[in-house]
Amino acid sequence: MKYKKTAIIFGITGQDGAYLSHFLLQKGYKVIGTTRNKSSKNLYRLKKLKIVKRVILLRGVATDLNFCKKVLNSNIDEIYYLAGDSSVIKSFQTPEISLKSNTEGILNILRIIKIKKYKTKLFNAGSGQFYGDNEKNFYNINSKIEPRSPYGVSKAAAYWLIKIFREKYDIYCCTGILFNHESPLRSKEFVTKKIVDTALKIKKKKRIILELGNVDIFRDWGWAPEYIRAIWLMMQRKKPRDFIIGSGKTHSLKDFVNEVFKRLDISKKNLKTNVSKYRRRIDLRGYKANISETQKILKWKPQIKFKTIIKKMIDNELF
Ligand code: NAP
Repeated sequence: MKYKKTAIIFGITGQDGAYLSHFLLQKGYKVIGTTRNKSSKNLYRLKKLKIVKRVILLRGVATDLNFCKKVLNSNIDEIYYLAGDSSVIKSFQTPEISLKSNTEGILNILRIIKIKKYKTKLFNAGSGQFYGDNEKNFYNINSKIEPRSPYGVSKAAAYWLIKIFREKYDIYCCTGILFNHESPLRSKEFVTKKIVDTALKIKKKKRIILELGNVDIFRDWGWAPEYIRAIWLMMQRKKPRDFIIGSGKTHSLKDFVNEVFKRLDISKKNLKTNVSKYRRRIDLRGYKANISETQKILKWKPQIKFKTIIKKMIDNELF
């Protein structure tokens, strides 16, 4: 089979890895992906998108330099680094894992590209979480980086490594500073998926109460498959540079719950907020991405709005 390009996705089993694989396969790419665990359970997203047999799976992690040396070669056109611990909460419990997986992995790849002089392009998944809680919580590419979690620190370090290797060694590498993006493939440990899943259980009378912490926080929520397209567009440019990828809109967690409950016709009596075990000692009050530059330069505009994201997440479980 003749492929247009070859891509390797570190973290292929995750939400973004699965959607990106699907997207690249449609574009005629040969898709190789890395995972720590090839068990059937861990491949559920690739199965759901019916692509598990169309990708080449390699078992290993980028934090293992020898593994990187083995899997990277001059035939790879594009590398997407989407692997690593993606949870802010977990990063407080095991900061060393966040640091290692989000930073050391990208450093290993950069070192190999530099030493071997590979012409491959490298995408790094950054996060709006590294801006912290400043500047009226409306961030553009020049906003001050001031992380408030070990996860944010790990993403900031990776971002700076990418910038330094790009400027000093002329490597094609870039960071997409991603704001929250959701889909039916979102992991259950994230609050949006927890809300949808629990509300559906309440609807089916399998559960009575949804318990949450502080719902007066604001987030910039987008639709994951659309963000994948933005990531790919970043990698098609002649010159690499970083971009903010978000919806440019903000909503509270309360808005999110209310919309789910309204859509499923569930009473608010089934909701308990400010539950102490779910309150975070350090949580960002809110944030919104300034995507004007991204829209202009990448010619990318998110189309799927907040209420449609919620509808799609619910409908996926119902139908
Ligand atoms: P995800 O669903 O959590 O997937 C990440 C993948 O990385 C997992 O499937 C896992 O694959 C691998 N992984 C997890 N912990 C690891 C560790 N300690 N060491 C090595 N590999 C590990 O994340 P996602 O939502 O697809 O996000 C992709 C990237 O974008 C992540 O870097 C995330 O931080 C970033 N990001 C996401 C969002 C969002 O809203 N989704 C927002 C900002 C930034 P295996 O278990 O198969 O190895």
